[in-house]
Amino acid sequence: MRKIIVAIDGFSSCGKSTMAKSLAHESGYIYVDSGAMYRAVSLFSIREGLINDDHINELTLENQISSLQIEFRTNSNGQQNTYLNGENVEKEIRSLEVANGASRISTLGFVRHELVRQQQLMGKDKGIVMDGRDIGTVVFPDAELKIFLTASPEVRAYRRMDEMIAKGENVSFEEVLANVRERDERDQNRTESPLRKADDAIVIDNSNLTLQEQQELLRTLFVEKTLL
Ligand code: C5P
Repeated sequence: MRKIIVAIDGFSSCGKSTMAKSLAHESGYIYVDSGAMYRAVSLFSIREGLINDDHINELTLENQISSLQIEFRTNSNGQQNTYLNGENVEKEIRSLEVANGASRISTLGFVRHELVRQQQLMGKDKGIVMDGRDIGTVVFPDAELKIFLTASPEVRAYRRMDEMIAKGENVSFEEVLANVRERDERDQNRTESPLRKADDAIVIDNSNLTLQEQQELLRTLFVEKTLL
């Protein structure tokens, strides 16, 4: 079986990471959550006071971005955690505030340029599953398997709300739905690498699919591509 690159793109909160993680686990591939990298830059910007409601201090961020160390480490439970400059920030980067900041800083060309460079390095030996917004279009345009995952905004907002409540965050459905819609709008309409389906990506709408059906579908596509 040949080693391939699997690119999974799509809207926020449609289950890309669940899908990607489980395929990586089954295939022994590396899993990279590219959104976590944008979130880590967002967290750094918030902590350093480089971003507020209506302004981003682009000059300072641009000067510092290449010195940020963003890594993934697997803990003893087999879960992958995101590290920023040696600190485990997995929990902090999942808040709505950080998600909103990530959506804003990800519109900046120099941020995308640096993170795409790091992502391409991670995939240089193939055997990788990466999820995000521009993986099949910009990061790995030659990926052997490209998936574009989608689901309705309401279904995605329910899923995200359940996740957040399970983690002890106090959020309403309306708040999460508004956040999902706002991020969709920004992801699709930014000038730098807007979210779009690569021409050769396979669309999966999982609004009405069970997790098992979704995984089965992906497994079949993966096996087909590795046997080619
Ligand atoms: O996927 P996740 O919600 O964690 O991504 C956080 C934010 O980072 C998204 O709102 C999106 O704007 C941005 N992002 C991106 N390109 C990627 C991954 C994420 O612009 N490849």
